[in-house]
Amino acid sequence: MSTTRCYYEVLTVARDASGDEVKRAYRRLAMKYHPDRNPDDPEAEARFKEAAEAYEILGDAERRRMYDRYGHEGLRQRPGHDFRSMNPDDIFSMFSDIFEGMGGRGGRRRSSRGYDLEYQLEITLEEAFHGDERDITFTRLDVCDTCGGDGAAPGSTPEPCTTCGGNGQVAQAGLGGMFRMVTACPACRGKGRVVSDPCRSCDGQGRRSVERKLSVRIPAGIHHGQAVRLQGEGEPPTPDVDPAGTGPRGDLHVAIRIAEHDRFERDGHDLMVLVPVNFTQLAMGAEVQVPTLDTSEPHVIHVPAGTQNGELFRIQGRGMPDLRGGRGGDLVAVLHLVVPRHLTDEQRDLLKQYAETEDVAVDADPPGFWTRIKEAVRGH
Ligand SMILES: [Zn+2]
Ligand SMILES: [Zn+2]
Repeated sequence: MSTTRCYYEVLTVARDASGDEVKRAYRRLAMKYHPDRNPDDPEAEARFKEAAEAYEILGDAERRRMYDRYGHEGLRQRPGHDFRSMNPDDIFSMFSDIFEGMGGRGGRRRSSRGYDLEYQLEITLEEAFHGDERDITFTRLDVCDTCGGDGAAPGSTPEPCTTCGGNGQVAQAGLGGMFRMVTACPACRGKGRVVSDPCRSCDGQGRRSVERKLSVRIPAGIHHGQAVRLQGEGEPPTPDVDPAGTGPRGDLHVAIRIAEHDRFERDGHDLMVLVPVNFTQLAMGAEVQVPTLDTSEPHVIHVPAGTQNGELFRIQGRGMPDLRGGRGGDLVAVLHLVVPRHLTDEQRDLLKQYAETEDVAVDADPPGFWTRIKEAVRGH
């Protein structure tokens, strides 16, 4: 296998993530990138397979230990499957125990929970600071009103599939006959039932795409990449396990992205801000205004005489709030010396006098840019 991407990165979990966190992360990615929900999307299929590869290693304590210690090299002794050349349905069947409770196809004990969904929401740093309530609109599958979810036109009923005897799975010899693999029945595509007179509203699927509008509460202090979970706002169970869709729905994960701010930079709980200052303020000392995110009032700091460019001033407790209500971060002002681009005649005269006290050579009366170029060209 040619993968070199870090498995922890692939599953977006921390290196010390628990086995359960690893499992949850894989489940979420497998749902998100499953080819059924991303038809004709080779990128999604590659992601789906990559996640399976990472989970096969990180989900196994022994292999994970080898990987932690020696990286990808450490897995030579016990290589994983070549998921890249496998059929996604077979991968799904392989990890069927993971998808129990998710309504996933191929599960041996099918459970009736619907799919989780993910929604990407971009917010500003101010919104992350104060917390916010945002309206989102997304599409999800819901039970078709016309057929009540079984996919059969009103007046008809679905019949059990004769190929698989109605259980939606067939056993096949896998990889050189080494073991038997259970895959989705090709005749009914895993549904276990065939519909001879499909419902016209949903094309026999039993589910229809529906737009849903929701309000999402974003807690103050949320981090980039964190998700807000809205329980039960995902999809109803799939029609093959629960045609009427009365079982528990999956969840909606609202993944938060925080847009870059043009002034503030976040570093964990701390906020950094660049504060422009003049040479005179640094040299002689000054009261300098530092912008804050918590109020519209700037915070005033005292910069002592002789302060250097780039020096940091830490203002306690004025950084990002803590998500769990603990101690928030600090505001860190970074002083940035700004050299004037233009001087008035008076300023130039004053600086000239000052420069004479410094005993350094200055170009006190620089000619204009084009004058210098012309002089250089003419060889004057
Ligand atoms: Zn229908
Ligand atoms: Zn079948």
